[in-house]
Amino acid sequence: MISKLRRTFTSILPVEKGRTGHCNGCGACCELPRRCTFLKTDSKGNNTCSIYRFRPPNCRKFPRSPAQLEAVAKTCSFSFENKLTGEKISNY
Ligand code: SF4
Repeated sequence: MISKLRRTFTSILPVEKGRTGHCNGCGACCELPRRCTFLKTDSKGNNTCSIYRFRPPNCRKFPRSPAQLEAVAKTCSFSFENKLTGEKISNY
């Protein structure tokens, strides 16, 4: 619950520089810490957001930082580039 509150309050901040990639619709971020009531999964396992056009900033900006990316290990298709070393921080 603390992580959800932190994510909500920090969603006013900009997405950290160096993020690349796109959303693959895995839905992992929609289950932090519990499954969102607006997340719909069809019989083939495809996820959609039933309020996508009106989703709040904490959903719109996810993952806003490398720390948030770590919370969805192995599923999120975004990555970050380390500002100092240029190293790619990714789940892939
Ligand atoms: S975890 Fe990443 S790829 Fe999966 S739905 Fe969220 S933003 Fe998209």
